[in-house]
Amino acid sequence: MAARDYDLFVIGGGSGGVRSARLAASMGKRVAIAEEFRFGGTCVIRGCVPKKLYVYASQFPEHFEDAEGFGWSVGERSFSWERLVAAKEKEITRLEGLYRKGLENAGAEIIESRAELVDANTVRLLADRRTVTAERIVIAVGGRPQAPAGLVGAEHCISSNEAFDLKRLPASILISGGGYIAVEFANIFHGLGVETTLIYRGAEILSRFDGDMRRGLMAAMQAKGIRIILGDVITAVTVDGEGRRVAETGQNGSLVVDQVMLATGRVPNTAGLGLEAAGVTVDARGAIRVDAFSRTSAPGVYALGDVTDRVQLTPVAIHEAMCFIETEYKHNPTSPDHDLIATAVFSQPEIGTVGLSEEEAVKTHAAVDVFRAEFRPMKATLSGRTEKTIQKIVVDAETRKVLGVHILGHEAGEMAQLLGIALKAGVTKDDFDRTMAVHPTAAEELVTMYQPSYRIRDGVRQ
Ligand code: FAD
Repeated sequence: MAARDYDLFVIGGGSGGVRSARLAASMGKRVAIAEEFRFGGTCVIRGCVPKKLYVYASQFPEHFEDAEGFGWSVGERSFSWERLVAAKEKEITRLEGLYRKGLENAGAEIIESRAELVDANTVRLLADRRTVTAERIVIAVGGRPQAPAGLVGAEHCISSNEAFDLKRLPASILISGGGYIAVEFANIFHGLGVETTLIYRGAEILSRFDGDMRRGLMAAMQAKGIRIILGDVITAVTVDGEGRRVAETGQNGSLVVDQVMLATGRVPNTAGLGLEAAGVTVDARGAIRVDAFSRTSAPGVYALGDVTDRVQLTPVAIHEAMCFIETEYKHNPTSPDHDLIATAVFSQPEIGTVGLSEEEAVKTHAAVDVFRAEFRPMKATLSGRTEKTIQKIVVDAETRKVLGVHILGHEAGEMAQLLGIALKAGVTKDDFDRTMAVHPTAAEELVTMYQPSYRIRDGVRQ
């Protein structure tokens, strides 16, 4: 067999692709990685990182307000969207540079081009029309926002891709969607002073989260002044004479706003990738089908991260990449572990969660005990803010095993990370009970809820 150009060719320079390429190259493999936009991918360029920076920016008005209760007088304030966008750009460019440097230092070849498959060992690089061959190929092309099928005037709307770099901060925005991206952006824009409306076809936002989290967050968002329209959709968007967007809705008439943002879902980036020619099969949504070791239907071709539509989160894409390296280059077959992934919604207040929601737990466990606390966080006593913290532990009453923990409140994401370790280690409620509290914190409530708030037996709350 003729020698291939590379041991490994990676398509996509995002979270999963960069990790695979860097680790393989650092092991002495001949590696190339192609990226068509910017290294760092969705997470660094137009996802997790810029979003969190904007979340911080949007929290300052509440900090200024809260400061009064602690004796501070905060003078005149002003906000410059342009300065925020420029500062964000500087930071993501720095991170992009680190990603590139990491690849270069490991010895991977960086290719700035769209790449498409010709067959299971050959890739075409569109920038200079050359083809290269590789022993193994990793597809880590991620996903992209998708507008609802048939939405008239979708071209007048923005997605999360554009939201970070708008020329001007809109005075008003209508965000369509009920998932975490829609919810986070609603909080960001509202915090920055934008009149914000969220519209979602479902009965409640964040449908996959624990009911207490969903309802608690929705109440907090509404109390802040975010308008939430449920059970409705945008049917058409036009532009009026002043350049404003006119969104027609199914039930709520027409809404006139400066921007309409669609956060109605993401689809895998597989169109035109040459998957058929390479023998790589996809599901009905275009996601690449993989086995437990991220192997596609084509021998030698692997797929990981969002393009496989398993769990669309950065640490998951990175973990899948590390498992690929273990399996293929370290002779240690390792399949990604998708169980008990702790996660956060960076809303205001935040949600931090790991494990089963109450609704999921009662479907799979006959006896469930729920420990629940709702209280005003200490900071709110002097600030006068009415916001509530909710903490909830879902326990298998038969084994005392903790099935899930859900928190709505400040720094809930940070708490979820640590709770993730405990749940992964198989923590029981008795372990929580014998853990000393850290006082005074909000998290101490988690280890001082000794009696169940209620019990659920065979699906019936007692
Ligand atoms: P990506 O990071 O999307 O990388 C794919 C790369 O491939 C892209 O750079 C793309 O340009 C490139 N590419 C595509 N096709 C080709 C081609 N044919 N040739 C060459 N290059 C190509 N996750 C979290 O864990 N926490 C969060 O808080 C969070 N917030 C998010 C907020 C938003 C607004 C969004 C959109 C996503 C967020 N995510 C978050 C999800 C996270 O960004 C993704 O799960 C993660 O980036 C997936 O990594 P990936 O490697 O699969 O793909």
